[in-house]
Amino acid sequence: MNFLEELLDLVFVPSCLECGVKLGEERRACLCGRCWSSIRLIEPPSCVSCGKQLRSDLEPLCGDCRAAKHLFTDNRSAAVYDGVMRNAIHLFKYKDKRKLGRWFGEMSVQALLSSGGLAGIDCIIPVPIYRKKHRDFNQSEALARFIGDWFRLPVLSDLLVRTKDTRPQHELSRGERRQNVRGAFSLNNSQKLDSRSVLLVDDIFTTGATANECTDAILGGSGARLVRVFTLARGE
Ligand SMILES: [Zn+2]
Ligand SMILES: [Zn+2]
Repeated sequence: MNFLEELLDLVFVPSCLECGVKLGEERRACLCGRCWSSIRLIEPPSCVSCGKQLRSDLEPLCGDCRAAKHLFTDNRSAAVYDGVMRNAIHLFKYKDKRKLGRWFGEMSVQALLSSGGLAGIDCIIPVPIYRKKHRDFNQSEALARFIGDWFRLPVLSDLLVRTKDTRPQHELSRGERRQNVRGAFSLNNSQKLDSRSVLLVDDIFTTGATANECTDAILGGSGARLVRVFTLARGE
């Protein structure tokens, strides 16, 4: 926070955007500590393939993953996409709420550390947005950079591009999602990822259609060995 922001915070004590209480010490950017701690982190057992929260550990795979295989090796997510988490991810798009990024970043690093870290990963690729303007903010890229800094891994943000202006996946029905992202990604340059292992980073995982399309483009054109996925939030 700079001096002016601190002064404004003293004069006009800001309130939590979720519940309206005055923000105190335990605030997380624009949310109070209580709302933030209501976010449901994904804890074991979760599906070993797609990271979905499971109720019992009798089966390592969820019903969806037993029915169909993904192109990516696996997905891990930090939190369940509902309630405060859903609202916070949408707020993060707005410029004055970018401070949420630090808290999302820390949440992501914790989730990765408690699920085996990033051993064997060589580089990170964020899921790209369709760029209308150069300044458009990509929250997946912000997250990828936080994770890359923490684990000291390079973030390759120009390799994968979105060539179609797709609709947000979480607004669509299950059937529409695959169609929406089909052929939407391609490789921008001939940089080779010979036999390297990639961590693909996105904000929300719904059915995995976006992660599959990105994996298809990466494995098809770069020579990468495998793609693992990390997403901030996972639909139920
Ligand atoms: Zn609150
Ligand atoms: Zn699954």
